[in-house]
Amino acid sequence: MYKTDLYLGGEWCSGSENDAIAVIDPATEDTITEVAAASEADAIAAVDCAEQAGKSWAKRAPRERAEILRKAFEIMSARIDEVAEMIVRENGKCLRDAQGEAGYAAEFFRWYSEEAVRNIGEVSIAPGGVNRIMVQQQPVGVSVLVTPWNFPAAMATRKIGPALAAGCSVILKPASETPLTALAVAGFLEEAGVPAGVVNVLPTRRSGSVVNAMLADPRVRKLSFTGSTAVGRVLLAEAAKYVVNCSMELGGNAPFLVCADAKIDAVVEGAMIAKMRNGGEACTAANRFYVHETVLDEFSTKFAARMSELKVGSGMDPSVDLGPMVNQQAREDIHGLVTDAMAKGAERITGGQPLEGKGYFYAPTVLGSVPEGANVLNEEIFGPVAPIVPFSDFDHAIEMANDTEYGLVSYLYTRDLSRGLALAEALDFGMVGINKGLVSDPAAPFGGTKQSGIGREGAHDGMLEFCEKKYICTEW
Ligand code: NAP
Ligand code: MG
Repeated sequence: MYKTDLYLGGEWCSGSENDAIAVIDPATEDTITEVAAASEADAIAAVDCAEQAGKSWAKRAPRERAEILRKAFEIMSARIDEVAEMIVRENGKCLRDAQGEAGYAAEFFRWYSEEAVRNIGEVSIAPGGVNRIMVQQQPVGVSVLVTPWNFPAAMATRKIGPALAAGCSVILKPASETPLTALAVAGFLEEAGVPAGVVNVLPTRRSGSVVNAMLADPRVRKLSFTGSTAVGRVLLAEAAKYVVNCSMELGGNAPFLVCADAKIDAVVEGAMIAKMRNGGEACTAANRFYVHETVLDEFSTKFAARMSELKVGSGMDPSVDLGPMVNQQAREDIHGLVTDAMAKGAERITGGQPLEGKGYFYAPTVLGSVPEGANVLNEEIFGPVAPIVPFSDFDHAIEMANDTEYGLVSYLYTRDLSRGLALAEALDFGMVGINKGLVSDPAAPFGGTKQSGIGREGAHDGMLEFCEKKYICTEW
C-alpha cells in the first residue's frame, strides 16, 4: 500500500543504512510502517544519478518537460483521496485539510508545466551603443530539497515542480515524520515519465550529516529548504562553506489585525481559517490576534464559541475538524506556551490543556488579555492556540505586529480599503491578507522578509530560484 524504499536513480531500493524509520500515526501512536533510511553514501550515489540525468533533462525541450509535469498533475489529481489519507495517517491533520493540501500540491505541477515554456531572457543595448547584452536563464543544476512534515505533499511539489520546469535534477530529503507522502509523489513523477535520476527521494535518520555530505559535493549547486528558522540558520552556515545557492522558507509569527470597522462575522470566519487550517501547524498560521478594543468583546465571544465547537479526533473521521499534533514533543511545546502565558496573566477563554488518552490531541484554545512578554506572542505556536491582545491605537498595533524577527505573513480586517492598503504597506511581512485568512496560491510569490526566509516559491519567481542568469556579450 505504501512505498517504503528509497527512490534513487529511478530504482526503489532499500538503502545501505539498516536502521529503518518508523512512521507513527499521531492519532493512535501506532507504527504505520517502516521506511528505508539513506546513508551519506546513498546521498552521494543520488548526486551521481542526479548529475548524470540532469544533463539530458536540461537539454530536453521545455515543451517536453512541461508535458511530463502536466501528466504528473493529472496522475496526482486523480488520486487526491489516496494522497489525503496518507497525509492524515502520517501527519494527523483532518481529512478536509489533507484533501485541500493534496489538491494544492498537485496544482504546483500544473502551474510549473505552464511556466516551463516561459523561460524568458532579455536583450539590451549597452549605454555606449556598441555592446549587445543578452541574458538567458539556465538551470542552476543539481538541487537538494529539504522539506518539513507539516505539508508533506505541497512543500515537496512546490520545489520539485519549478526545479524540473527549469531543467534541474533534484534530491529530496523529506521530513522523518512524513516520508510516505514524499515517496508517493516520486511514484507519480515516475509514472508521468520523469527520467530515472532526475528525481531522487532519500528519507534518512541522519538529516544533518546526509544533507551536509551533499552540500560538500561540488556538483550540488542549489539548496532549497523549508522548515524552522533554527535549522535554516544551520544550513545557511553549512552552504556558505561551499557557496551553494540557497532558497529558504522558514518560520512565521503572523499577526492578525482586526480594525474597529471590520465585520466581525467575516473576521471570525477568516480567523478560523488563518488559525485552524492544518490544526494551527502552519508557518502561515495566525499567531497573534490584535483586536481593536471596541470590537474585542464581540470578536472574543464569537471566536471562542467557534473554537470550542470544533470536533477533535482522528483525522480519518470526515466529521472531525481538528486532528492530533504531529508528536508528543510538539504537544508539550504548545502546552508550555499556554502555561507561560497564563502564569504571566493571560486569561483562559476556552481550552488550554492536552486531551486525555491515546494520540497527541490538544484542546482548541483561546487566551485573552495576553501580556506583551508572553512567549506565545514571540514564538511560533504551531498548534490550536489563539492569543488575543487588545489595542486602541493603530500605530501601536502596527508596532507590536512588526516587533518580531519573523516576516512571513500578516492578516488584517477592515472595511476601509485605503486604511487596509496603508496598513498592508506598513506591515513588514512578505505577504498580507486583507480580509482573507488564506493567501497561499501556486500563482503567487510565497515567502517572507527578515528571518522568515530568502527567496520566493510559487509564481514565476519560484522557477527563477532554480535558474542562474547567463550574460552573453557581443556586438553586431
Ligand atoms: P525542521 O525541524 O526545521 O525540519 C525541516 C526539515 O529539515 C526536515 O526534513 C528535517 O529532517 C530537516 N533537518 C533538521 N535538521 C537538519 C539539519 N541539521 N540539516 C539538514 N536538515 C535538517 O522543521 P519542521 O519541524 O519539520 O517544520 C516546521 C517548521 O517549518 C516551522 O518552523 C514552519 O514555520 C516551517 N515552515 C515554513 C514554511 C514556509 O514556507 N515558510 C512552510 C512550512 C513550514 P528531520 O525530519 O529528519 O529532522
Ligand atoms: Mg507521523
